[in-house]
This record gives sequence, C-alpha cells and structure tokens, in this order.
Amino acid sequence: MNVAVLLKVKGRAVATARSDTLLQDIAAQLAERRIGAIVIFDEPNGVVGIVSERDLVKAIARRGEGVMKLPASEVMTRDVVTCSETSTIDELMEIMTKGRFRHLPVIENGSLVGIISIGDVVKHHIAEVEMEVSAMRDYLSTG
Ligand code: AMP
Repeated sequence: MNVAVLLKVKGRAVATARSDTLLQDIAAQLAERRIGAIVIFDEPNGVVGIVSERDLVKAIARRGEGVMKLPASEVMTRDVVTCSETSTIDELMEIMTKGRFRHLPVIENGSLVGIISIGDVVKHHIAEVEMEVSAMRDYLSTG
C-alpha cells in the first residue's frame, strides 16, 4: 500500500500559507480547518517550511503571546522532510516515528500534491487490520 492510494481516499488538498503570514492567522487557519500543520509555500521557491501547532505552543512558551504578531518565517521548520506517491505506508510510519513529527507533505515531480498526517496513516492501518481479522474469521468459519 502506498501514498497514491491514500491520496485517492483522502484527496489532494493541502493547507498552505506564505512565509510572511502572521502566526495569529496561521493559528486561525489551523483552528478553522481542524488540522495540525500548515505547509509554508512561497512563489517561486515552493515549499520553504512547515508550521505545526507544536511550533506555536513552543513559541508562545518561550517568547510570550506577542509572538503571534510575527510572521511564520520566525518559527517554521525549514528542513521539511517529504515523501512521494510511491512511498509505502510502512516507510511513512518509520519516517514519522524517527523524525518525531506527524505530517508529511507529498512531492511529485517537484510539485506539492498532497499531505499525509499520522491520523491518515493510523486510520488506514486500522482499516487494514480489521480487513485481516474479518478475512481470518471467514476462513475459520468456513474451515
Ligand atoms: P508535528 O508532530 O507534525 O506537529 O510537528 C512536530 C515538529 O516537527 C514541529 O516543529 C514541526 O514544524 C516539525 N515538522 C512537522 N512535520 C515535519 C516534516 N515533514 N519535516 C520536518 N519537520 C516537520
């Protein structure tokens, strides 16, 4: 199972914002869309960072709530780890576990084509396990 299949189910929409977007507007977007991270995207460079709810909490704890009036570029993670449509779900789980983050933008031929969150991975994993259990039950009941 790979990312292309996951994207077919969840869609390819990605929440993005420019690096000069104020953190208070990033927070508003996260709350409104009920998501945990926004990909920071500047023309013509493309993906230049990512801001997750964790970055906002850290910034407020360290610098006070005034930090919310600063732009995303102040707190974003610049070295964004990405995956491709051919990445497998097992690979995503390993990358997220090792990197200790929960979001992976999907890049194909240099373009941002989707994002996978840990929630998407877990949802898929549960569905797969349920299918296996059901197949096993069928096998045992017909055996
Ligand atoms: P998260 O667990 O996704 O909320 O993010 C935890 C930390 O990792 C935050 O500092 C994020 O900016 C950062 N982060 C999230 N996703 C990625 C990613 N794909 N590549 C690099 N850093 C990331």
